[in-house]
Amino acid sequence: MPAYLDNAATTKPCEEAVSACAAAMTDCYGNPSSLHGMGVRAEAAVTEARKAVAAALVCPPECVTFTSGATEANNTLIFGAAKNYGRRKNKIVVSAVEHHSVDEPLKELAKNGFEIVRISPMRSGEIDCDEFLAAMDSNVFLASCMLVNNETGAVNPVKKIFSAIKQRYADCITHCDAVQGFLKLPIKTADLCADLITVSGHKVHAPKGVGAMYIRKGVRIAPLLLGGGQEKGMRSGTESVPLISAFGAAVRAQLPHIATAYSNAEELSGRLRSKLAALDYVIINSDAEDQSPYILNFSVKGIRSEIMLHFLESRGVYVSAGSACAKGAPSSVLTAMGIPRKQADEALRISLSKTSSAGEIDLLLSALREGYLSLAKTN
Ligand code: PMP
Repeated sequence: MPAYLDNAATTKPCEEAVSACAAAMTDCYGNPSSLHGMGVRAEAAVTEARKAVAAALVCPPECVTFTSGATEANNTLIFGAAKNYGRRKNKIVVSAVEHHSVDEPLKELAKNGFEIVRISPMRSGEIDCDEFLAAMDSNVFLASCMLVNNETGAVNPVKKIFSAIKQRYADCITHCDAVQGFLKLPIKTADLCADLITVSGHKVHAPKGVGAMYIRKGVRIAPLLLGGGQEKGMRSGTESVPLISAFGAAVRAQLPHIATAYSNAEELSGRLRSKLAALDYVIINSDAEDQSPYILNFSVKGIRSEIMLHFLESRGVYVSAGSACAKGAPSSVLTAMGIPRKQADEALRISLSKTSSAGEIDLLLSALREGYLSLAKTN
C-alpha cells in the first residue's frame, strides 16, 4: 500500500462523491435552467449541494456560489471587491503568505494603481494580529488573510484580526481563503467576521474543478464571468451538476466527523513530529503556536527537496516539495518566515487526510531514514 501524504495538494474523491457524480451524469443530467422535470431535478441537486456547503460554513445557502475551484473564487472576490469598493479607496492589506490565486490578482491590481501592503509572518509562520492592524487605515477597502497556510499548516488568528478590523473600520471588506481549513477546523462564518470566504472541493475528497465562495448578504461583488446569469448572476455558465453534487456529497459525508478526523490527524502528526525531532538531520519548519495537524513541513539537511521526494516516491511514499518552488525560486512563504534559502530548498511537506494511517507515517519514516543514508553519501 502506498502512503499518500500529499493531501494538501489534492485528496482522493470519497465514495459518496464518486456516486453522486456518476448519478448526476447518468440519471440527473438535465440543465438546471431547463423548465422541464429533468432540469428541475438537476436544479434540486445543486440546491442540496448548496445546503451542504452552507451547513459546513454555518451560513445561509443563498450566500454560497459555486465556482470551478478556489482559484476562480479568489479571483472573483478580489477583482469583484476592487471593482465595487475600490473607487474611492485604493489600499488592500493582505498576509504575505497567501496562495498564488490571491497574490496574482493583487499584483494585477497593483499595476492598476492599487496599493497592496503585505504583512510578513512571524518565524513560526503565523501572521501577527497587531502587525496586521498597524497596517490598516481608513483608505483600506479590502483585508485578506488565509486561515491555514498550505505550505506550513500555520493557523492564522483570522477571527482576532477581522473582528478588530470590523470594530475600527466597519466598511472594510474582509476575505479569508479557508481552503486548507475547510472541514478540518470548525469554521463558523459569523465568528470569523469574514465577508468573503473561499473553499475548494478537491481538498475535501470531492473531484477537481469545483469550489465555492461565501459572500455575506449585503456585500456586492462584481462577477468575473458574465453570460446566462446562473448562480444569481454571480457566476454565469451552466452549472457542473456532477461536480457540484459530488462536492455536496463529500461535505455531507465529512461534516459529522470533523472532530474525529482532527483527533486522528493530531495523533499522527504528533507521532511524526516526535520521531522527526529525534533525527539530527531533520529541521521542523512547521512550528506555529496554532498549528493545523494536517500539514507538517520539515527540511532534510543536505538533500534537496526534489531528490528526496523522488526517493520517497520510489518507496511508495508521496509528499510535496515543501518549498513549492516556482521556476527555481524558493518558496515565498518559507522565505517570508526568515528560513534560510538552503533550508527552504530542502523542505518537504507532509499533508494528511481523514483516511491517513499510522502505517503510512511509519512507511514515511523508514523511507526517509533509508533515503538519508543513501542520498547523504552521494550529495
Ligand atoms: N488556496 C489555497 C490555500 C490552496 O491551498 C489552493 C490549492 N493549492 C488554492 C487556493 C487553489 O485551489 P483550487 O485548486 O481549487 O483552484
